[in-house]
Amino acid sequence: SFSQTVPPMLKKLFKSFRTPARRGNHSHSTPEVLSSSQHPIERGEISRYAISVVERLQQAGYQAYLVGGCVRDLLLDIDPKDFDVATSATPEQVRAEFRNARVIGRRFKLVHVHFGREIIEVATFRANHPEGEEEENSNLSSRNESGRILRDNVYGSLEDDAQRRDFTINALYYDPSTERILDYANGVHDIRNHLIRLIGDPTQRYQEDPVRMLRAVRFAAKLDFDIEKHSAAPIYKLAPLLGGIPAARLFDEVLKLFLAGYAVYTYELLVDYGLFGQLFPASAEALKLNPDYTDQLIRNALDNTDLRIHQGKTVTPAFLLAALLWPALPARVIKLQDRGMPPIPAMQEAAHELISEQCQRIAVPKRFTMPIREIWDMQERLPRRSGKRADMLLENPRFRAGYDFLLLRESAGEETGGLGDWWTRYQDVSDSERRNMIRDLSNKDDGPGAPRKRKRNNSKRKRGPAAENSSSTAGE
Ligand code: ATP
Ligand code: MG
Repeated sequence: SFSQTVPPMLKKLFKSFRTPARRGNHSHSTPEVLSSSQHPIERGEISRYAISVVERLQQAGYQAYLVGGCVRDLLLDIDPKDFDVATSATPEQVRAEFRNARVIGRRFKLVHVHFGREIIEVATFRANHPEGEEEENSNLSSRNESGRILRDNVYGSLEDDAQRRDFTINALYYDPSTERILDYANGVHDIRNHLIRLIGDPTQRYQEDPVRMLRAVRFAAKLDFDIEKHSAAPIYKLAPLLGGIPAARLFDEVLKLFLAGYAVYTYELLVDYGLFGQLFPASAEALKLNPDYTDQLIRNALDNTDLRIHQGKTVTPAFLLAALLWPALPARVIKLQDRGMPPIPAMQEAAHELISEQCQRIAVPKRFTMPIREIWDMQERLPRRSGKRADMLLENPRFRAGYDFLLLRESAGEETGGLGDWWTRYQDVSDSERRNMIRDLSNKDDGPGAPRKRKRNNSKRKRGPAAENSSSTAGE
């Protein structure tokens, strides 16, 4: 309910609004209208640029509203990430109204109106795809065999626009001039009841765009809502449809899933709905082979990410991806070693294979795959500290990420012979103490000449790709 989120006075007003009995499923043409006294949104909470875009379009004779996530979030007293505008003006007409406007997108044409660093996204009202009309409209809209929408530029009325949106809670329109909310799909009812509900037939809507399954999970986690049972039911079976989504789009979606501050819960839902394996097949395999360690490592990484986000700190996607994939490495390293490849090249080759496989699913850009490799390489180097090596590692720009990653591995129960503590102390002490620490190492057989035993102890090998390396060097 709104009880924890809406200021008391407004809450009362909002509560006094009664959702009328639901209309039949097929009459969508007249919306519920909430006047300014029936909802808690105030103009002052809205970006002044968003308001000016809407009012400018209205003055030019077009219909224009704030729509989607911002209206939903304001009703829940959440700070909106951004403000989206929906209008009857075409992208060209929108561009003609503003000096700093750019038409973007191919699959879905939008206009970005720039105000300094703030961007207001303006979308033209669109219609759902009339099935069986592909031929007539083939240059505007098309679907593939499984019903997925490939292009999406069929313009429509406001009513059409509401119906083509994904969830009822995302189909609310706010007019800042009248301060009224238009609700075509019972979105207010679902906001009140904390429900994520697809508009229309769930199976069909997921088939049209399988990414909606990820969006359902993302909003459920972010808002702490339930996915309504008819919207939840088809997901597990339809999850494999994600295989047909372009890898670049999935990368964007994965970042949104894990960088919104609710990554642990999102991960749990993804696993429960069978979606995680569609995004990270190798990690899902590792979850089966080595469930406790893999699950713990992923959770700890995500937990840490959530914490950083809530503290307003930055998060590097590379670190997160390095963690998600790390548990999938050992099986591959072992396979290559069993074919006679020495440990280090086997590790390198396994890392390379794993990342290129992952990139076929999710197009991770080079600027992230490079640091993933560097973080992993660092795991091989952190145990080797003799002579000047430790000091050189400290100078390495990736040291911090590598060290954090080592601590993450240990937090999931990986045995490293106290390597994390050693490095924590090494960073902290004086030069002379550092020299002592290095000298103590050589007494314990660490050094260039130390024999690198290839242990066949299975319980250790399973723990992580670098386990054998570190246990042979750090002196247990
Ligand atoms: P947030 O920005 O907080 O992540 P949002 O709801 O604003 O959430 P966007 O991805 O910005 O999400 O999309 C804006 C709106 O566009 C949504 O609220 C929804 O109405 C519509 N929308 C986005 N993606 C889809 C989709 N795949 N299918 C149908 N409608 C969509
Ligand atoms: Mg948005």
